[in-house]
Amino acid sequence: MNGMSVGGREFGMLVNGRLVRAQSAPLEVINPATEEVVAWAPNTTDDQLEEAVAAASRAFDKWRGVPLAERRRVVRAMGDAVREHADELAALLTSEQGKPLLAARKEVDGVAVWCDWLAECEYPEEEIREDGAHRLRTRYVPLGVVAAIVPWNFPMALAIRKIGPALLTGNTVVVKPSPLTPLTTLRFGEIVQDIVPRGVVNIVSGDDSLGPRLTCHPGINKIAFTGSTATGRKVMEAAAQRLARVTLELGGNDAAVILPDVDLDSTADALFEACFRNSGQVCLATKRVYVHEDIYDQFAEKFVNVALRARVGSGMDERVTLGPIQNLVQYRKVVQLIQDCERSRLRFLLKGEIPEGPGYFIHPTILDNPPESSAVVTDEAFGPVVPLLRFRDIDDVVERVNNSEYGLGGSVWGGDVEAAERVAERIDSGIVWVNESQRLLPSFPLAGHKASGIGTENGVEGLLAYTQPQVLSLRKT
Ligand code: NAD
Repeated sequence: MNGMSVGGREFGMLVNGRLVRAQSAPLEVINPATEEVVAWAPNTTDDQLEEAVAAASRAFDKWRGVPLAERRRVVRAMGDAVREHADELAALLTSEQGKPLLAARKEVDGVAVWCDWLAECEYPEEEIREDGAHRLRTRYVPLGVVAAIVPWNFPMALAIRKIGPALLTGNTVVVKPSPLTPLTTLRFGEIVQDIVPRGVVNIVSGDDSLGPRLTCHPGINKIAFTGSTATGRKVMEAAAQRLARVTLELGGNDAAVILPDVDLDSTADALFEACFRNSGQVCLATKRVYVHEDIYDQFAEKFVNVALRARVGSGMDERVTLGPIQNLVQYRKVVQLIQDCERSRLRFLLKGEIPEGPGYFIHPTILDNPPESSAVVTDEAFGPVVPLLRFRDIDDVVERVNNSEYGLGGSVWGGDVEAAERVAERIDSGIVWVNESQRLLPSFPLAGHKASGIGTENGVEGLLAYTQPQVLSLRKT
């Protein structure tokens, strides 16, 4: 069999229904818990990229005509196949991404849940209206070849949220995982090789040059991108040259607002998850916590106590709740942020240990009411570092929460749900939770406001983003 070898197994890139091997020096994939090489992934050559886009383009001509019922069957079968390989995929995900095995398993299981939902969901493939002498057909037709570009924090979840909707609506895809976490996606390609028709799903891995090569490719009709806001801007520029469609799911700096009538214990527990899950490397993580001054000290004490109970270490250890930072560049950024806080003499409620390697580990770190203008408040840390901030007045806190270039998510916590809801309505972001956080279902349309995105992923709105309306106006006589 063609492909790269990993621990006795072999991986290849799924291109035109075949597993193709590396034709140039492959990429090393590092385990962030050990800093050892997990495996090598192919570094797609120009010829291989051409082959992948051409295969997707040829496959599109047939796939768009395949009845919706059959497309549903294929999407469901992809989910079933992932379910059958869940243990293996979860272990591979932990070894390349770092997250605890249980969290990796949850991410893999979510792929199947997403596929199940898509296989069942109703979307208006065609709407027909009779209007006197006219029959009006509005068809939602597919766009063509979709480039699905995915970051390193949720490689499986974010890939299927593009592949599934694209296929269901009749498009074909070229998927590009992050060079830092390509293995689970490559393995997914092997698993679905015999399930999806040839060329409908293609997977290419590669170094930093591959993203721009893909987004500039004239054969790509839509780019579905999840990643940082800075890269999202470049993607949009590339797409603008030929007016390719884009969906951008970008960075965030989500705030939580803790009202004074909140249940302190349960909120401290839930907020810990909201801030530190996946070691803070979540686009929708809570990155600023505004606490009413009446309960600030009590809440801070409880929050720190919850954080002290976290077990940081290799995700392969079942007792561990927080894994490493996924890569060295991100690790250095987070360490630098903490050192800058120290240099600026900000107060720490908890200064997490940063152990000597190997492994990119940082323990939870919590700041005590830093100035609103400090980087730890204004920037997306994307690591286990969170500021607690005092507030007194609702208008003031709403203004501070909204004073951000981002508008991805947020949450409000309080005993009086209706009062919390009224505050939630005033937050300028795509999703706001009350007394919970990060709950995402396939039916929720996620649309980053402001610099957090363009367009919608998930939900029926997200599905329609892989289509364009075509009106057939038919005069009957
Ligand atoms: P990134 O922007 O560096 O990379 C994302 C992907 O884009 C990777 O596959 C990368 O190889 C590729 N890429 C890099 N340069 C490119 C270019 N010029 N053209 C095309 N593709 C290019 O992001 P990251 O560091 O991998 O991920 C972290 C960021 O992603 C954070 O900002 C986080 O908030 C964001 N994120 C957002 C969501 C969301 O749904 N809104 C979800 C997860 C992560």
